Amino acid sequence: MFDNNTIRMDLRARFASKIMKSACSYYLKPKKFNADFPECTDNKKRLLYLHIPFCFSFCAYCTFHKFIFDQKTAETYFRLLKKEMQLIRKKGYNFAAMYIGGGTPTVLPAELAGLIDYAKELFDIKEVSCESDPDHVSSPILENTVDRIDRLSVGIQTFNDNYLKLIGRYDKFGSGESQLEKVKNLMPHFPIVNIDMIYNYPDQKKEELLNDISKVLSTGSQQITFYPLMFSSNSDWGIKNREGSKSYKRESELFQLILTNMDTKKYEQRTQWAFSKDTGDIIDEYVVDNDEYIGLGSGAFGFIGDTLYINSFSLKEYGKLIEENKISAVKNIRFGKHAVKQYRMVVDLFGFNLNNKAFPEPEFSLLKLSECVQNKNGYYKLTPQGQFIISLMISEFYDGMNRVRTAMRKELLNEDSKFKR
Ligand code: SF4
Repeated sequence: MFDNNTIRMDLRARFASKIMKSACSYYLKPKKFNADFPECTDNKKRLLYLHIPFCFSFCAYCTFHKFIFDQKTAETYFRLLKKEMQLIRKKGYNFAAMYIGGGTPTVLPAELAGLIDYAKELFDIKEVSCESDPDHVSSPILENTVDRIDRLSVGIQTFNDNYLKLIGRYDKFGSGESQLEKVKNLMPHFPIVNIDMIYNYPDQKKEELLNDISKVLSTGSQQITFYPLMFSSNSDWGIKNREGSKSYKRESELFQLILTNMDTKKYEQRTQWAFSKDTGDIIDEYVVDNDEYIGLGSGAFGFIGDTLYINSFSLKEYGKLIEENKISAVKNIRFGKHAVKQYRMVVDLFGFNLNNKAFPEPEFSLLKLSECVQNKNGYYKLTPQGQFIISLMISEFYDGMNRVRTAMRKELLNEDSKFKR
């Protein structure tokens, strides 16, 4: 009935995007959480996420939770984070995989090394994934992380100097050419390097994206992730640049270009955004492979059972809670059983996990009827148009989570305002 191979912003895509936006507005309303953080009573696989909320300067488009770096505050923070790990261990949790995100996890390289070593003492950690930037190649950072990090995720975003300037990363990390050199030099030092790229910049031309694709492939990186530029409706930059420049038509065309131009002989598509040389590797969207995860640190999220936990965004409150031997979750959102199934379905489709799943109805039937999903030889597969629709839905979900971050930041205590945010 439909042409599902030509990716476009058709009625189905508009409808799915709207539904996801409405669902996020309806569900993502955090409530105060005063109770004790739940004890662990099982052996379920869970990932440990640690948040380091400091950056030396801010990139214009970024909506993550972070403060401008201050040495003393960051040192205290690393000490508190270690204590929070002890507290979660005492509650019975154990982890085989850990993901460190930010902010900039490498602001204090020796502290980061100490944090990883301590996590390995406390838990049965086998795999450490850490976010970083092109300057990871500088000596104190490299020395402290080689042999400690199994997967380094490096944010490059684009090799195009004009777009680097637009998002505030040219002065910070250098030109596209110099970043390409830096990231190539990182490759031999880590078992897995992922490179994060962004597409659909305002007015981006197909040739510009093709140039980015060819440069990122030239690094030989084990993983490459292409995110659509997300214009958070809650950031000043997002509002300013959204006007007249956010084009879903262009996003659909560029998405198709990525699918057809990634070197499929070397890379398997792991999610709608991530390509990997080895399908077993951990990826940036760790929620795909981990139904549950625990978030520690200021501004981290965790998901257990049917509940999303949100940690305090205030450094002052975070410190107070940890000194009182409490996990730093201060808000939560409880979802009904059906809502959890809906969320898992979108995440599973995002990660191509379509078979042997009990997906909710009538949602899954709707996806089949609209030919986003097709049955081929007894196996469900996403059509290319279905892939684009799921990518749009996940972007809407991220925008919803950004709105939660913005609301949490508005409640920051006065004392936190001295660390510019
Ligand atoms: S993109 Fe990364 S480096 Fe830039 S402000 Fe956000 S967290 Fe900091």
